[in-house]
Amino acid sequence: MRIGAHVDPADPLEAARERGADAVQFFLTDPQGYKSPKPRDDAAALRESEVDVYIHAPYIVNVASPNNRIRIPSRKLLMAHARAAAELGAKGLIVHGGHVGKDADLAAGFENWRKAFEYAESDGGLPLPILIENTAGGDNACARRFDDLARLWDAVAGFGAGFCLDTCHAFAGGEDLVGVVDRVKAITGRIDLIHANDSKGGFDSGQDRHDNLGNGKIDPELVVAAIRASGAPAVVETPGGVEGQTADITLLRERAGR
Ligand SMILES: [Zn+2]
Repeated sequence: MRIGAHVDPADPLEAARERGADAVQFFLTDPQGYKSPKPRDDAAALRESEVDVYIHAPYIVNVASPNNRIRIPSRKLLMAHARAAAELGAKGLIVHGGHVGKDADLAAGFENWRKAFEYAESDGGLPLPILIENTAGGDNACARRFDDLARLWDAVAGFGAGFCLDTCHAFAGGEDLVGVVDRVKAITGRIDLIHANDSKGGFDSGQDRHDNLGNGKIDPELVVAAIRASGAPAVVETPGGVEGQTADITLLRERAGR
């Protein structure tokens, strides 16, 4: 079982050592900006490390958007991140499912996802798996409710898309965590990564507010059960720095290892 943490991009391997993490996830650029990633001095060290590397795409990436001034730069930014992440030997690039906004038709969002993968294929192909993550909220989100996720998967499964299940987002998005892995796998056929987070927001609140395990509204045993049932590696995206995340990693190892 591989358990890790979302960490500061400054020195991910040191952050992994401090937390006793088997995996790290980090951003390559400001998550709210459209800047392309720059080469990293620690690229070879990351590639050669025993620590598994995952890269999270910027939050502003929304390839589902009906607005072409968001959608087109999002596609390009996703490709730039995919290439940069592959340079680091990353196992996957995590990107949120996105949304189409208040008055738009979700069908357009799914179609835009299909086009994003087609664009990637026409631009040399994806050098690593794209892991689409479920979201807690968003107006007309593509991957909040699992009935919508099923429609998204009809559009992207043929391109080899992967899936990242965030327990906070599922709970706050209004999906029951009991049996969640089976319900997701019935749709996607795979779970590549678990984001193991507690939720400050209540069930179906739509709030994307992560908390340390056992501190929020989710029974930690349901997070542990999801990791076990999926057999996937897990990354905590929780607050509290080294101390808070080390406690979360320890809890998951102790309980999921049994
Ligand atoms: Zn997440």
